[in-house]
Amino acid sequence: MVSTVAPVVAGRPSGNDGRTRIHGLACRECGDTYEIAPIHVCSRCFGPLEVQYDYDLIRETVSRETIARGPDNMWRYRELLPLDGQGDIDWRVGWTPLVRATRLGKALGINNLWLKNDAVNPTYSFKDRVVAVASAKAKEFGFDTFACASTGNLASAVAAAGVRLGLKTYVFLPENTERAKFLNAQVYGANVIAVDGTYDEVNRLCSEIADQRGWAFCNINVRPYYSEGSKTLAFEVAEQLGWEVPDHLVIPIASGSLLVKITKGFNELAKIGLTNGKSVKVSGAQAEGCNPVAHAYERNWDAVRPVKAPKTIAKSLAIGNPADGYYVLKTTRATGGSVAEATDPEIADAMRLLASTEGIFAETAAGVTIAVLKKLAEQGKFGRDERVVAYITGNGLKTLDAVDDLLGRTPVVQPNLDAFEAYLSTTQ
Ligand SMILES: *Cc1c(COP(=O)(O)O)cnc(C)c1O
Ligand SMILES: [Zn+2]
Repeated sequence: MVSTVAPVVAGRPSGNDGRTRIHGLACRECGDTYEIAPIHVCSRCFGPLEVQYDYDLIRETVSRETIARGPDNMWRYRELLPLDGQGDIDWRVGWTPLVRATRLGKALGINNLWLKNDAVNPTYSFKDRVVAVASAKAKEFGFDTFACASTGNLASAVAAAGVRLGLKTYVFLPENTERAKFLNAQVYGANVIAVDGTYDEVNRLCSEIADQRGWAFCNINVRPYYSEGSKTLAFEVAEQLGWEVPDHLVIPIASGSLLVKITKGFNELAKIGLTNGKSVKVSGAQAEGCNPVAHAYERNWDAVRPVKAPKTIAKSLAIGNPADGYYVLKTTRATGGSVAEATDPEIADAMRLLASTEGIFAETAAGVTIAVLKKLAEQGKFGRDERVVAYITGNGLKTLDAVDDLLGRTPVVQPNLDAFEAYLSTTQ
C-alpha cells in the first residue's frame, strides 16, 4: 500500500497569497454563492447548491504524478473533493477494477467494452464513495449523528462509515427493501428504521427529522458534499485508461446524482489539464417499473413527472421523484447520449449474462445497466471502435431473490459415486 500522499491544499487560505482551493457553494440555477456550510438549497430560488473550486489553483498543484503518488483509493483525488482535512485514507474505498469485457462485448456486439466494477467496495456498492466524503464533512462540521434515507445500499455505507469515524448513525429505508440490505446496515450497529412508504416518502420524513434534530443527512443538508464523491468514478476511469477519455458511458439512475457527477468529474479533468478535453457521451439506465427520467427523455420533456408507486426488482434505483432528474435530461441530451429502460425479466437476464460472461455477480441495478447497454447497442448507439464504459454499482449478493426464479434448483445426489454417475448420465 502506497502511503505517501500529495500535499493538501485545504479549503482555507494556503500560502502567502491567501488563495483557497474551495470557493464555497453556488446555486446551480441562479448562481448565488454561499459559504461552506451544511446547507443544500439556495435561499433565493430553492435551486440545488454545488461546491465551487478554484480550478486554476488546483491546476497549479495537481498533476498526474502527484495523483500517482497518492493512496490507492479514492483519496488520491482529494484535491478535487470538498474536505479541509484528509479523509479516512486507510479505508479502501475506490480504486476499483476497470476491466476490459471482451466476452460480454462479444455477446452484445460492442467491440471496445469496459466495466467499472464498483461492487467490490467495503460495503459492496459505489455508495461508499459518496459516504466517505459526506461522513468526513459531517465530522468537520461537528455533527455527532450521521443519517440517511436509503433505497438500500446507502444504509450500509452510512452504518460502516459511522463506525469508522465515531458517529452515531440512523438509517431509514422503505419497508419493502431487500432483507440483505437491512442486515447489511444492522450488523454495524446502526439504528435501522423501516418506513411503511416509498423512498420519496422516506426522504420527506427525513427532511423533517433533519430540521427537528439537527443531524447530518446524506441526501439533505450534506448532499452538496456527498454528491461530489461520485466524481471519483470519472477520475479513476480516466486514470485507468492512461488519462484518456472514453467515448460513451452507461450509468444507472436513481436520484440521478451519480450520472451528473461522473460527467462533472470528466469536465473537471479537462479544466485542470489532466485530460485533453475530448467530449464523452453519457447515457442513463432505469427500470421500467420506475422510469421517470427515461419516460421524460423519450417524450422530449424538459421536466420529470414523478412515478408515484415504483414497482421493480431494481429497488436500489426505485426513486420515483429523482432530485437530479432534470439535470440528467440536460446532461444526456447535451452530450449526445440517451436514457432507456429495462423490464424486470430483462434485468434478471442481464445479471446472469454479466456473471456468466465476465465472472461479475452484480445486483439488480447492474442488471438495469447491462440490459440498457444491450438495447443501446441494438439501436446502433455505439460506433464500431468507440470505447464504451458501463458502471457496475452494487453487489449481487445483496439481491439474491432477483435471480432465484431464473436459476432454479440445484440437483441433490446421494453421497456415493454411483449416484453421481447416474446423475451425470441424465445430463449428457
Ligand atoms: C444509489 C445507487 C445508484 C444511483 O445513485 P444516484 O446517485 O441516486 O442516481 C446506482 N446503483 C446502485 C447500486 C445504487 O445503490
Ligand atoms: Zn438560486
